[in-house]
Amino acid sequence: MPKKINILGVGVDSLTMQEAVQQVEKFMDERAGVLVATANAEMIMRATHDAELRDILNEAALVVPDGAGTVWAAHHLGHRMPERVAGYDLAQQLMRRAPEKHRRIFFFGSAPGVADKAKAKAEKLYPGIEIVGTRNGYFKVEDEPEIVAQIKAAQPDLLLCALGVPKQEKWLRKYQQELGVPVSIGVGGTFDVMAGVMKRAPHWMQKAKLEWLFRGMMQPKRAGRLMALPRFVFKVHAFKSEHNR
Ligand code: UDP
Repeated sequence: MPKKINILGVGVDSLTMQEAVQQVEKFMDERAGVLVATANAEMIMRATHDAELRDILNEAALVVPDGAGTVWAAHHLGHRMPERVAGYDLAQQLMRRAPEKHRRIFFFGSAPGVADKAKAKAEKLYPGIEIVGTRNGYFKVEDEPEIVAQIKAAQPDLLLCALGVPKQEKWLRKYQQELGVPVSIGVGGTFDVMAGVMKRAPHWMQKAKLEWLFRGMMQPKRAGRLMALPRFVFKVHAFKSEHNR
């Protein structure tokens, strides 16, 4: 198993994209029934004041370093962290391998119609892929048993869940046992990007580690959330001094 790096109380796995993909494939082969999380700076910040989220992350089978902030924090704390493993990219890598491995995938979350558009896109990008069901992410608590039944009936090997952080992590944890899906991953805005509802940062911005800035610009409603980043940097500095004492 990869080494866990403690970033503000959240254990993040130090591994490459290739290793992450291999690990998830192994969980699917073993039909493990596990959760995989993709931790960016904003999620780690939230976990510092949301104990439920922190516990879910620390009990997850794998927590990949999503975003430049997480990789920076690991390096700043003196650990090896080979590269960023973005949730969107991890999902694409898994889908790319899915036809050959006959993996069944379920898309749960995002606004009505979006998961279906993402499904159509996946079928175009990855011929032969089996997206065995979709369900939008806007529901009432009383709808949950029906959603669980729908997912169970579809018998997916992989459940991609896009309800936003921390709703997706909490929902997956709540129903983990009941669902019995080999691997479930919270994938945030992945279906929005696949459906073309939202754009991903241009490649040069991703390379310049500016994806967070692009997101803030594209969704002004989220601009306030950008403040999480300087706060994260500040907290990681403080965390380092504390642990060096
Ligand atoms: N979403 C959803 N149900 C909700 C809230 C959000 O399905 O109750 C979806 C939303 O439509 C979007 C995705 O969750 O497709 C991720 O939202 P956001 O970009 O806010 O997530 P984050 O960046 O926090 O992961």
